[in-house]
Amino acid sequence: MYKSFWNEELETKPWKEVLEWQSNKIAHFVSALPSRSNFYREHLSKNKTRGLKTYEHLSDLPFTTKQDIRDAQAVLTQTEPFGRNQSVNQEEIIQSVCSSGTTGSPMYYALTRKDLDVWVDGIANTFYTTGIRADDMVAHLVSLPMVAGGMSYADGFRKIGATLCWLGGFPKERILREMGRLHITAMLATTSFGVHLAEEMQSGSSNTDEINIKKYLSGGEPGLAQPKIRQKIEEGLGVKHIREMMGLGDVMSAMWGECEMQNGMHFNAQRYVAIELIDPETCETLPMNEGAVGEVVYTTFEREATPLLRYRSRDHMQLIGSDCACGRTSPKFQCIGRTDDMIIYKGMNIFPTAIREFVMKQFGGQVEPQLRIWKDHAHQVKFDTPIPLEIEASSKISSKSYPELANDISNKIRQHMQVRTDVKILPPASFPRSSYKTPLVYVREPGSKK
Ligand SMILES: [Zn+2]
Repeated sequence: MYKSFWNEELETKPWKEVLEWQSNKIAHFVSALPSRSNFYREHLSKNKTRGLKTYEHLSDLPFTTKQDIRDAQAVLTQTEPFGRNQSVNQEEIIQSVCSSGTTGSPMYYALTRKDLDVWVDGIANTFYTTGIRADDMVAHLVSLPMVAGGMSYADGFRKIGATLCWLGGFPKERILREMGRLHITAMLATTSFGVHLAEEMQSGSSNTDEINIKKYLSGGEPGLAQPKIRQKIEEGLGVKHIREMMGLGDVMSAMWGECEMQNGMHFNAQRYVAIELIDPETCETLPMNEGAVGEVVYTTFEREATPLLRYRSRDHMQLIGSDCACGRTSPKFQCIGRTDDMIIYKGMNIFPTAIREFVMKQFGGQVEPQLRIWKDHAHQVKFDTPIPLEIEASSKISSKSYPELANDISNKIRQHMQVRTDVKILPPASFPRSSYKTPLVYVREPGSKK
């Protein structure tokens, strides 16, 4: 009854041809960047931006990092409310999108009318891949319109022709009640909230008799790829059609989505965005071979208001495959971790830097800014037991006070951040120093009892 693809020609074209198709557009985009953006004029001053002919030539150009954009937004003026990377006049901008701001002051991105059309089409493409159709009644459970998964997701559902029921923001009892009464067929939530609702439905404390959800979409944090979480959602919500999706507010808020094979997310924004895979340490471009793991880098070759060239997402992804029975030719990925260090404590996203910041603020005189969080294995993101946290003591305090201090720190973190930690204070200079970045998260060696 419905077509199989949102954009059949591009979605089923051999990937190599898609890259050739993108090359022209990328060349135009790159050569115009310095004249459009004050930020890129400086950023690319040492690079030749004309003469770029193929997708592969992208790797000759510098990356753009989150810090670059943060710096470019250090001063926001009336004429440049989106900072030095704002590439159109303010009067051409019709929407502002913000990052969640978990790691500091939020960053802002802008959309012109054309950018909005591009976003909505790309987002609709992603939702279509995940199985949303015009006859769906969709419960949109993200409650903040200004974040990437807010207003623009709503637009994406409407573009497909599905019925948008924006229930995000209501108390969970009301959400469940409305989902039944409105005969909701599909829902979108963050993975944590999806699990929360699944638990609520299973507990039997709300009247959920009328709920009959057929399709479940989640993203925004890693987790849905884990079989245990899928199982929890499947059992709690009574739904088998479970699809993971993902995007990036800076680039496009939904670009990746699982097809009916449910094993890895296709890239669905090939009409507007180019992707590369790089080794985050050496920064070398990696071939898109099955099993490859790296950081995904984005180039928004159709973006007018806040364009991005080789933008480092800090999303670590694994390539699952590029040959899919669904007929789509774009590579399929699974997200291993969003940002290098983020961890999840009982469904809540925590950045180790935020813990460090808090400890230093409260106990700065007694400890050094040397912290270590221990993971059991490299892919561990979730902690359901107290997070093992080692902190180096200041030389000003006696070792006798370590146990009491550890207790104080743990209590304060719990009170202020709602996170349980298992704190251990170590003598001064216990940790190795590095002149480069010192990671905050470490992985226990197998067999170690640390
Ligand atoms: Zn597929």
